[in-house]
Amino acid sequence: PAAIVTAPGGTYPVLVGEGALGALGAICRDLGLDGRAFIITDTTVGPLFAARAGAALESAGYTAATFAIPAGEEHKNLQTLAAVYDFLIDHRIERTDFIVTLGGGVVTDLAGFAAATILRGVPFLHAPTSLLAMADAAIGGKTGIDHPRGKNLIGAFAQPRAVVIDPLLLRTLPDRQLRNGWAELLKHGFILDEPLVRDLEAASIDGPPLTSADLIARSVAIKAAIVSEDERESGRRTLLNYGHTVGHAIEAVTGYRAYLHGEAVAIGMRAAGIIAAELGLLPPADLERQQALIRRFGLPEAAPGLDPRAVFDATLVDKKVRAGAIRWVLLERIGQAVVRQGVPDAVVHYAIETVTRP
Ligand code: NAD
Ligand code: ZN
Repeated sequence: PAAIVTAPGGTYPVLVGEGALGALGAICRDLGLDGRAFIITDTTVGPLFAARAGAALESAGYTAATFAIPAGEEHKNLQTLAAVYDFLIDHRIERTDFIVTLGGGVVTDLAGFAAATILRGVPFLHAPTSLLAMADAAIGGKTGIDHPRGKNLIGAFAQPRAVVIDPLLLRTLPDRQLRNGWAELLKHGFILDEPLVRDLEAASIDGPPLTSADLIARSVAIKAAIVSEDERESGRRTLLNYGHTVGHAIEAVTGYRAYLHGEAVAIGMRAAGIIAAELGLLPPADLERQQALIRRFGLPEAAPGLDPRAVFDATLVDKKVRAGAIRWVLLERIGQAVVRQGVPDAVVHYAIETVTRP
């Protein structure tokens, strides 16, 4: 496997390979699963890949039933979760049965949470189909849904039995969604893996969209290593928040509409880079190197026209917290991140003003 995740909730392999979806049934047999399979997907991914996943399971002797939730973040909610529960209960799901989540991060989050909670938990596998889900959402054991008052407010830590990543599935993913996933992958290189950054700089991005199993596997290995050390985000897992303080603020002030998550994170990584450079932590040449790679992958460097004051305020999720108390993930150089508190408000303002300038 590309990586092994060893979390308190379970140890499991992450398999990355072209055509891996075709091996889904064999993988489930290897895991010792012997009940029925329930594939949870969405209305975009289902027509593309559910039959292939079902056939792979049936060829290994499983019976498989599929349910598609409506595609889109706006459906990652209690109502959709209830529909998944209804489907599973109508099919009289038993503890020995298992769930395969087949889709982007919305599906892996929501169906993973359904699996973690139905009958107090049944085994599940993730088969992520978006680059964001492959590089990020399917690894680490966070599952859940949104609440009208905020994203991901309801959920559970729940580890899958395996994650099966087939980069060939990315061929149908829209370009913008692909770039969205690259942002998290670049992040993994920036915080911990300079050689990965070097290979991303060298990768050919002319011609067909880049969907390299090798690059995905190496990014997965970084996230797997971090979450293995720290399932519940007390220490090193914080590093994964690189670019996310300003990124989340940009998403919040734009009502989660103008920018995809990865796009907001890309802008957030530039803001963090400016902060680190202003503090004398990050050499300006490394900041420029970061930005060159962000540009190369077609990700935005600025959110022109946003009110910098509103973005600054949105970084203070709890309004009583001063900016200086935020735990900033900052780079010392490409491939090495540190956590810093006490960044002066003026420095944060300067960075946010820079990335919101028209
Ligand atoms: P998504 O699941 O909405 O997928 C994006 C779009 O692409 C959807 O319309 C989907 O139907 C479509 N799609 C997916 N795969 C496709 C394919 N192969 N071909 C064609 N279309 C395809 O969103 P996402 O960007 O994958 O994930 C975002 C979600 O992930 C958010 O809800 C976020 O909170 C969550 N997330 C969770 C974690 C975690 O640790 N659990 C980490 C990061 C993000
Ligand atoms: Zn993210």
